[in-house]
Amino acid sequence: MSQIKRILVTGGAGFLGSHLCERLCDQGHDIICLDNFFTSQKANVDHLLDRHNFELIRHDITLPIWLEVDEIYNLACPAAPGHYQYNPIKTMKTSVMGAINMLGMAKRCRAKILQASTSEIYGDPEVHPQPESYKGSVNTLGPRACYDEGKRAAETLFADYHRLHGVDVRIVRIFNTYGPRMHPYDGRVVSNFIRQALANQPITIYGEGDQTRSFCYRDDLVEAIIRMMNNEEGFIGPVNIGNPGEFTIKQLAELVIELSGSSSQIQYGPAPQDDPQRRQPDITIARERLGWEPTVELREGLKQTIDWFKTIDMSHYRAPTPNY
Ligand code: NAD
Ligand code: UDP
Repeated sequence: MSQIKRILVTGGAGFLGSHLCERLCDQGHDIICLDNFFTSQKANVDHLLDRHNFELIRHDITLPIWLEVDEIYNLACPAAPGHYQYNPIKTMKTSVMGAINMLGMAKRCRAKILQASTSEIYGDPEVHPQPESYKGSVNTLGPRACYDEGKRAAETLFADYHRLHGVDVRIVRIFNTYGPRMHPYDGRVVSNFIRQALANQPITIYGEGDQTRSFCYRDDLVEAIIRMMNNEEGFIGPVNIGNPGEFTIKQLAELVIELSGSSSQIQYGPAPQDDPQRRQPDITIARERLGWEPTVELREGLKQTIDWFKTIDMSHYRAPTPNY
């Protein structure tokens, strides 16, 4: 490795953050993992605590903090709908005040900073698949707005700190990502279906099950965001990161049942308000600018995720909110 960097990962104990910390530790960098453990627990980073190049800080990014760093990956934010809707005002504060605090640190330290944005900034899209140039269709008043609008405002702050102060920013728009170490009670579709299938309980489809999502395996995702941070061409994004393979939620349910050898039946319930009907990333820019594309097919990634779910003891997990 050419140079050891001091890297801050906010939300570093979460599903994606903990994998990112692991990868960056393996590369020999000095990692500061910052988290308030709202939707995660220390168990996710237990295996890193003994490493000489890993440090864990309990902190909330809505409050200022003084650290000396070379790079910041800003991942802190509840990501599952049941989590971000639990306290929507706090969700907005985390996105907006958190971005301001982290951008201020980046400005002071002359650090590079990457924002984990989301496909949710496209809302319930009228354009399909979604390219980065699509401006989105978000209901500003709906239950998802705290997250969607918070992430949109964070992107605006990143662009403005770049224009006004020359901060070296990166913006990645992450599409649905899954894999081992997802919180089993996060209420997201992959974790719900696997948990239900392994217990031979009904698989809960919200709505008709014909809404679509495109699922990216976590290792592919982590590879992409590290490439984006390390990109030397002054490319700040935004860039879509996701797997273009598009599946209906019913297809996902059937695949999970098959792969887990479950006897679960499908049970249909009401569709949530403002549930996006179709979602698929256009990853032309990621291919061209980062030389990146996903390598793990849904079937393979689900097998690995199901295998991991089989190894965990659910009683060791505390549901972050009642919404799962
Ligand atoms: P996660 O809930 O597992 O991780 C988020 C982490 O942030 C948790 O550890 C949580 O405790 C922490 N956190 C929340 N609020 C905080 C605060 N105020 N201060 C400090 N820490 C705080 O979710 P994830 O799937 O790992 O998502 C990570 C990031 O990626 C999020 O910003 C999310 O919006 C973004 N993202 C994820 C997906 C996905 O499909 N996984 C898709 C789009 C965007
Ligand atoms: N969903 C479902 N059953 C569940 C959980 C989710 O049918 O038990 C649906 C949800 O309505 C949405 C899709 O699966 O259409 C993806 O939901 P998730 O919460 O994982 O993420 P989103 O992409 O909506 O943020």
